[in-house]
Amino acid sequence: MKNYEERHQKLAFGGTAILVAGTVFAVDTLTDIEGAIAVLYVVALMLAAQVVGRRGLVSLTILLVFLALLSLFLTHGLTTDYQTILRVAVAIAALFVTSALLLRADRARLELVQTNSALRESESRYRSIFDNTNVALWERDYSKVRAHLMELKAKGLDDVKRHAQAHPDFIRECFAMIDIVDANQAAFELIGKSAYSAPGGFFDRFLPKNSDTFAKILQTIVDGDSLVEADADIVRDDGERRTVIFNISFPNEASAYNRVILSMVDVTQREEARKALADAQADLAFASKAATIGVLYASLAHELNQPLGAIGVNAQTLTRWLDRTPPDVEAAKRSADRIVRDSRRASDIIKNNRVDHTSAPRETESIEVGALVSETLSLMEHDLQREHTDVKVVQRAELPEITGVRVELQQVLINLISNAAQANTAASVDQRLVTILLDAADDGDEVSISVRDSGSGLCLEAEQKIFTPFFTTKSNGMGLGLSISRSAVEAVGGTLEGLNHPEGGALFEIRLPKGTASA
Ligand code: ADP
Repeated sequence: MKNYEERHQKLAFGGTAILVAGTVFAVDTLTDIEGAIAVLYVVALMLAAQVVGRRGLVSLTILLVFLALLSLFLTHGLTTDYQTILRVAVAIAALFVTSALLLRADRARLELVQTNSALRESESRYRSIFDNTNVALWERDYSKVRAHLMELKAKGLDDVKRHAQAHPDFIRECFAMIDIVDANQAAFELIGKSAYSAPGGFFDRFLPKNSDTFAKILQTIVDGDSLVEADADIVRDDGERRTVIFNISFPNEASAYNRVILSMVDVTQREEARKALADAQADLAFASKAATIGVLYASLAHELNQPLGAIGVNAQTLTRWLDRTPPDVEAAKRSADRIVRDSRRASDIIKNNRVDHTSAPRETESIEVGALVSETLSLMEHDLQREHTDVKVVQRAELPEITGVRVELQQVLINLISNAAQANTAASVDQRLVTILLDAADDGDEVSISVRDSGSGLCLEAEQKIFTPFFTTKSNGMGLGLSISRSAVEAVGGTLEGLNHPEGGALFEIRLPKGTASA
């Protein structure tokens, strides 16, 4: 329909232009009117300009100039008077000037069309971003509140927060002046219907994390700054609370305050995840503390087992010596001495454990390895008797002294020797023997203590896990002896390894660096 009308209009303009040009040519050629009739070609040119393009306009100008000259030639021939030539020249000049003006107007029109379409494109791009982004966006009209604030500023308002303290309703009144112009789909999804409604209700449901945030927004307007960003909780229409980060960017020109963009990003899930993470970390810290305490108790129980067992046995023996008639006081005294020794050991273990867990410096001393082994064996006298195990100690070389915590190294040896004795018993071999081999290693810089038994060796699983805390294959085992032993040896710079001996039985080797005293 529109096209049809346009075509109709074009035809009318074009037809009229031809008619005007034809009439002017006829009058100019056939009559003797002595006026600048050719000037009227300008009318034809202006009418045709509505129909033809820029090129058409230039061609038409040339054609009309030609017609004017042709009329002149036809009416006056080559001999014409000066005045006539001047009139035709004026008409031709008018044609050129009009043509130039029309061309310029056309260019301006073209530019306007282009600018307009660019504007439209940018507006529609903005619209599409505004409508389709996942960020909740509002266009809000801050012009009234800005005008109000500027009025107050002119009267001396400087610090909004202070002013609000003196006038408790000030902030609420200011926010009531803000209108919502538009809100996008994401805003609707974030808040509900009231995303589009009056700001008063919205203000009540907007709970900034910092109570000064509202004042800060108004202060930004007063100071002419451009950006406010803050955290807030927002209450949705359905009453649910969401945590958001919001951002308001104020324009530079006062005239643009009628379309200020407010954006909100829902960070509730992130906040929840952060909280869950913090809770999980707290739980983990608690659990690991509990586990540490558990390990501490378990290791204490494990290490105290041996001296307490020995005390029990010695106490029974002591009673037996005293029950004799006459009582064997000497033997009873020996048992009592052993009880005293073992109870000292027990208290040393407790003290040492406490030291371990308060990370106070450990009391190391210079230790002669041969003596350490025989002391340990005397502590284990009863255990070895109970397991019917013989112990053979072989010293292969002169050994340097080592540096360590005596009670800890004794404990390591007790663990290895009692494991070996138990392995012998479990294997029910005829000859239950534990061989302890003392040797120098690494060119005399290390001492090697190996404990070998005649049991059935480490099973496949044990080979990989023996040093893992709580790994045990024994019904009454705790699975802590070897892991504690390894840490104790490593604490003084040594190593502890366990493997199956090619000729049977398990072999555990401790290597300790020679002590600072012997160095
Ligand atoms: P527990 O003796 O309480 O089980 P350990 O840490 O001392 O704890 O030992 C862990 C496991 O290593 C034992 O349960 C056993 O399976 C294995 N093991 C240790 N010493 C020997 C050994 N001499 N012969 C065979 N297996 C051993």
